[in-house]
Order: sequence, then C-alpha cells, then structure tokens
Amino acid sequence: MAYVLVINSGSSSVKFQIVDPNAHASDDPFVSGLVEQIGEPQGRVTVKHAGQKFVVQREIPTHTVGLQESFRLLDAKGIGPTQLDIIAVGHRVVHGGMVFSAPELILDPVVEMIRSLIPLAPLHNPANIDGIEVARALLPTIPHVAVFDTGFFRDLPPAAALYAINADVAERNLVRRYGFHGTSHEFVSSQVPDLIGRDPLHTRQIVLHLGNGASASAVENGHPIDTSMGLTPLAGLVMGTRSGDIDPGIIFHLYRQGGMSIDEIDNLLNRQSGVKGLSGVNDFRELRTLIDNEDENAWLAYNVYINQLRRYIGSYMIALGRVDAITFTAGVGENDKHVRMDALDNMHMYGIEIDPEKNNLPNDGPRIISTDDSKVKVLVVPTNEELAIAQKSAKVAASLA
Ligand code: AMP
Repeated sequence: MAYVLVINSGSSSVKFQIVDPNAHASDDPFVSGLVEQIGEPQGRVTVKHAGQKFVVQREIPTHTVGLQESFRLLDAKGIGPTQLDIIAVGHRVVHGGMVFSAPELILDPVVEMIRSLIPLAPLHNPANIDGIEVARALLPTIPHVAVFDTGFFRDLPPAAALYAINADVAERNLVRRYGFHGTSHEFVSSQVPDLIGRDPLHTRQIVLHLGNGASASAVENGHPIDTSMGLTPLAGLVMGTRSGDIDPGIIFHLYRQGGMSIDEIDNLLNRQSGVKGLSGVNDFRELRTLIDNEDENAWLAYNVYINQLRRYIGSYMIALGRVDAITFTAGVGENDKHVRMDALDNMHMYGIEIDPEKNNLPNDGPRIISTDDSKVKVLVVPTNEELAIAQKSAKVAASLA
C-alpha cells in the first residue's frame, strides 16, 4: 500500500499523519502523531496506530529531535516512514502569498520563496520551513510537496481581494485578502456538485468551515469569488478564540486609551476573544452545556457567533446571485445541529429549508440535510485537510514518474 506522510509543523509542535491517499474523509489515518512542547524542559511524542497509542516523554530541544523520536517509535512497531512505501511527504504551509496557488514540489528555491513570505506569516511560515528542512534531511529520497493554505484563494477577484486603504501603502506591505483554510474549502466544495447532481461548472455554493478557526467562502463554478479571512486568519467569522471582524479603530482605542501594547492586543484578539472571550469557553460542546444551564454569557456568545455567520451567508448569497448549495464542515459545522439550524433559520423565503430529522442524524460521511423542496441544498461534508494534502502531494509525486 502506498502512503503519504503529511506534516503540519508549528512553532512548538509538529502534527503528522501517514495517510492512504485513497482513503475516505471519515477514515482514521494509518498513523497519526503529535510532537508537543518542543524547546521546553519536558516534551512529548504521541503516536496513534490501529486503535493503539504510544507516548514518549522526554526533552525535545528541536523539531529534528521530535521527528527523529517519532520515527524511532514507528520503526519499533514496523511502521516507520522508511519501512513503508511512502510516495510523497506533503507539508502544510500557511502562507503562499501571491506566489503559490497550486501544490509545489519542494526544491531549494521553493524553500527560499516560502522564507521570503515570512513577513506575511511571521509565526507560521518559519515553523513550516523548520518542518520542511527537518523532513527533507530525514527522508531525502522522497519527493516533498508544499500545499498552501492560501492557495485556493490566490486568484480572488480584485473587488473582493483589495482593502480600501492607500494603494501604495498596501502594495508596499503586501496588504490584501489572501484567505486561509483553502485546502478545506477546495476539498469540500469540489465534492458538492456530485452530491447534489449538478455540473461543477454550473454550481454556485457557500462553504462554511466552522471549527475552532472558522471561515466562509463563496465559490462559483469551482472558483472562489470571496472568503472571510483576510491578510491574516483573524478576520471574518467569530471563532473559538479569535474575534473575527471588528472595527479596526478598536485597536487604536485599546492602545491609546486602554494602555495595552501591540503584543497584548494581538494576544487578546487571537487567543482571548471570539466565543471564549464572551463566554469563557471555546469548545462548542462546553458552550452548549452552559447554554442548557441558562448561562447568560454563553447564550450571548452563541448569538453573536450566529449573527456574524448569518451576515456572511447573506452577503455571499447576494455576491453569488443564485445559490445551489450551502455546506457545513469542520468540528462545529459537522457536529453541531443547533448551529446549522440557527445559521439558516427563517430563510425559506430564499429557498433554504433544513429538514430537522436529517439535521439531527449523527455525522457519518457527506449528506444532504435540506428538505426535498428546498431550492438551495444544505449539506454536511466532513473535511479532512491531511487527506486533501496527501491527495495533492501524491498527484505531484505521480507527475514526476
Ligand atoms: P476543528 O478545528 O475543525 O478541529 O474543530 C474543533 C471544534 O469543533 C471544537 O473546539 C468544538 O468546538 C467543535 N466540536 C467538536 N466536536 C463537537 C460536537 N460533537 N459538538 C459540537 N461541537 C463540536
């Protein structure tokens, strides 16, 4: 069996999976692994395979040591990357700027190009480069492929991509809407035409990726025409811990009147805001328990979340003109029936009607949850970014043969 090793390298952690690129989105990966607390006195490597979990606790000073330790653990079980038929290593890279749209075979100039984009993603791209360099050194004979989170959205129409700020300043600083979660929006939106029996070249759809991070996109005939995240993943929908869209004047206000530093505001908006900022919890299961216990802040947080979601749905309906499908995906979108129901509540005049019975079914593969009469089909389609990266990477590797 041929596999792809998928690596998602963060600043103090590395997530990886060994994936069969022909698997279904809801299948468990062959292997999944997590290296945590890199650079701290006590680190941890966790590897899962066939329902079993193996953990090693030790100091992990670098990404290299973390991946080496993971591979040693897998080797001992006979499922190490050099013992399997690994046809490609796929790397998730957060920011491809205006340079990269399609997945790219990683050669030295590609790494340099990703490095040149560090100003656009100062936390993520350096960590992604670490992962690439370490994995290339450990597995030098296998093709490595970069898959960009921004790639799907690179060619957004200018009217959606440009911010109305001074054009010279924007150009000098590469300020524009890039969008993120592109791998997921592409993976999900590409399945929808088949599921609703339409020609992909005549399908207009809205995709709602609602996880801990959340984003919406409007996709016309396979091409995104708008998306909610911007220069950074902070923009758009209300998220688990991120604010989503706010009045940019709030930042000046907090800085000048609130006496907060830029780093404090950054931390506030990225990690202490969103549903967590309003309710104290960012996990929707906990939020629901609080709501059921009549916690007023949780109820407020939920309503702010839903209100913002409906704003985006409405504006994308107008942008698309005709909508054939609205699809929910990611942790909240796939599992939270209340969010789906409330996001599209009272929209029958627009041809949108969820069937409550279908909506209540547990998450089990792609499915339609709208009534038979609903003009706009409403769907739940599980996303799987690792599988999508594996499929893209396998394709690039096959093109080399
Ligand atoms: P993701 O970022 O796609 O992994 O989504 C993670 C989020 O999905 C969690 O923080 C939860 O808020 C949410 N989630 C996961 N499972 C459920 C569930 N069964 N019901 C409601 N929300 C869920």
